[in-house]
Amino acid sequence: MPDTIQLLPDSIANQIAAGEVIQRPASAVKELLENAVDAGATEIKLYITDAGKSLLQVIDNGKGMSETDARMCFERHATSKIKKIDDLFSIRTMGFRGEALASIAAVAQVELRTRRAEDELGTCIDIENSVVLKQEPCATPVGTNLCMKNLFFSVPARRNFLKSNASETKHIVEEFIRVAMAFPHIMFSLTSNGQEVFHLESGNLKQRVVQVLGNQFMAKLVNVKEETDYMNIYGFVGKPDTARKTRGEQYFFVNNRYIKSAYLNHAVMSAFDELIPKDSFPLYALYIDLDPTQVDINVHPTKQEIKFEDEKIIYAFVQAAVKHALAQFSVAPSLDFTL
Ligand code: ADP
Ligand code: MG
Repeated sequence: MPDTIQLLPDSIANQIAAGEVIQRPASAVKELLENAVDAGATEIKLYITDAGKSLLQVIDNGKGMSETDARMCFERHATSKIKKIDDLFSIRTMGFRGEALASIAAVAQVELRTRRAEDELGTCIDIENSVVLKQEPCATPVGTNLCMKNLFFSVPARRNFLKSNASETKHIVEEFIRVAMAFPHIMFSLTSNGQEVFHLESGNLKQRVVQVLGNQFMAKLVNVKEETDYMNIYGFVGKPDTARKTRGEQYFFVNNRYIKSAYLNHAVMSAFDELIPKDSFPLYALYIDLDPTQVDINVHPTKQEIKFEDEKIIYAFVQAAVKHALAQFSVAPSLDFTL
């Protein structure tokens, strides 16, 4: 019998890997916005058409890429963000896996234009099914402009699996807001089918939170701020009367990364304790900063689940900080308000 095992060609391997990283247009939004943030951009513009299904474009004014890097960035495990295994435990960038662009180029038609400040001309590259169709010098502003067209055009089964435009747009807005809330000093905009839906000027954290959640919350936010040698927490919780029956605006960021954590959510809920009715949810935007060696973000490809070295300390700290903030603002218990 002949041997039967073969290495998969890159185009297939990338497509399989893409299944984990790029599930829908919103996943590409997250990855592209994070790349722009990592590139040091101060302005990041997102354009979508048909909920990102036909077009999804991110334009940043970050540091751009060289001609060679512009090709390399589409290779799998190609990254400028880590070099050795130890770097994995001290990550300060949003990305590090070197998978996003390879995945996107495996499942969509991509046009990239990019230029560094030191280069007179930038470079433009077209790539489809992981194959570079052409690359040439071009005039383009400093920064990166990545256009992703016809997501899953070569994988009809995946394309059919996408939800309605309304639903996919909702996912995109969610991801957009999560990144925008983590980086208030960066200007972000979102334009959908030619209409600008968000235009978030750079500002301080409170301004950004209010820009995103709505002006009506300006007077409804209680400042949270505690610092220790081990970690810092800052941000806002809504006054108890902003609690709602449905789980609404609840955001946790760890080292500027939006994360999902039922455990930490419980810490906040327990701090509100009797201030809100049992079955209601307070709004919060809480930011935890701690030494990157104390968190493992390499638990899941989307990096939204993380592991803390010492979960219990964080829980107690979050709970105490929120309790303290609520007490300081002497918010009277208001069990009897109507929702
Ligand atoms: P990762 O972000 O995990 O490194 P990606 O596939 O998202 O992997 O990107 C690969 C590389 O391409 C990055 O490490 C970075 O060097 C470069 N890159 C991607 N997007 C941009 C951008 N918007 N501006 C400058 N460089 C970028
Ligand atoms: Mg990335």
